[in-house]
Amino acid sequence: LCSLSKTFTLGGGMLHKSRTLQAVKDVSLRVPQGQVMGLVGESGCGKSTLAKMLLGLTSPSSGDVLINGKAIANANQKALARHIQPIFQDPYSSLNPRQRIAQIVGLPLRIHAIGTPKEQAVKVDEMLEMVGLPKRAAQQYPGQMSGGQRQRVAIARALIMRPDLVICDEPTSALDVSVQAQILNLLLDLKDEFGLTYLFISHDLAVVEHLADRLAVMYLGQIVEEGTREQIFTAPRHPYTQALLASALTPEPDLGVPDIGLGAGQPDPSRPPSGCAFHPRCPMAQPECSQQAPALSALDQATPKSNQVRVACHFS
Ligand code: SF4
Ligand code: MG
Repeated sequence: LCSLSKTFTLGGGMLHKSRTLQAVKDVSLRVPQGQVMGLVGESGCGKSTLAKMLLGLTSPSSGDVLINGKAIANANQKALARHIQPIFQDPYSSLNPRQRIAQIVGLPLRIHAIGTPKEQAVKVDEMLEMVGLPKRAAQQYPGQMSGGQRQRVAIARALIMRPDLVICDEPTSALDVSVQAQILNLLLDLKDEFGLTYLFISHDLAVVEHLADRLAVMYLGQIVEEGTREQIFTAPRHPYTQALLASALTPEPDLGVPDIGLGAGQPDPSRPPSGCAFHPRCPMAQPECSQQAPALSALDQATPKSNQVRVACHFS
């Protein structure tokens, strides 16, 4: 689906040498249609930057976004919005407080001039019903709703365009625990009903395990492992994936991997370590790891793409 890099320039100016921060480095990720691709990693690893590039909210330094094999021409926000729609973490800030729900949900149709105002209104009603909101919700304002209801509005707005890809960036982490499961189940129901494709970004491995068909693990702007949910959760290959699982699923006794205590010690992303960026924290690091960066490559080239496992480690 995409092969993207994003470099931010920090500082700069006449007197200071600028420093570049490569937030996302040659990420190439294929999200199979009709599936959920989970994207996990510690905060600051570049997950949200990647999402913003896919949404055209920030432009990549290099690379393309491809939908069904075709690059989106001059991938700006409007062009991408026809294909890719977001559901963000915080429904409080992503909805305009001064607009009625009907206006908010219908906005993408108005921007892209799809249908007459009457047809748009019918679609809005349909969408509200599909996300489980009552008819009267159309005339309410976001401030009159609960967090869960607001996230249903955000989902309706994202899906009204029938996008090829829905990017869910921590869509439940601002919600009460009791509401989280309802929203996740709604997302799954809608996916089955419309054959939707999700890129589901989360730091919560339990959520991802529940939802994802495939999983990509990101570390300091790069994908270090990508595979099926079963493979990642039962037989993780990259030492970072192993550490991430060990620290998240400590009660899981049979994983047999050391807890190297992630949480502290993530390097400054603007000064990534040489070679394999994980080497200062890696329990398996060898001298060559600090010199040579491992490529993300398929473990078994003969495996069909849909089952392939890709790992970026010299020793996996
Ligand atoms: Fe660890 Fe070396 Fe593999 Fe990097 S390449 S994950 S440092 S063993
Ligand atoms: Mg984030």
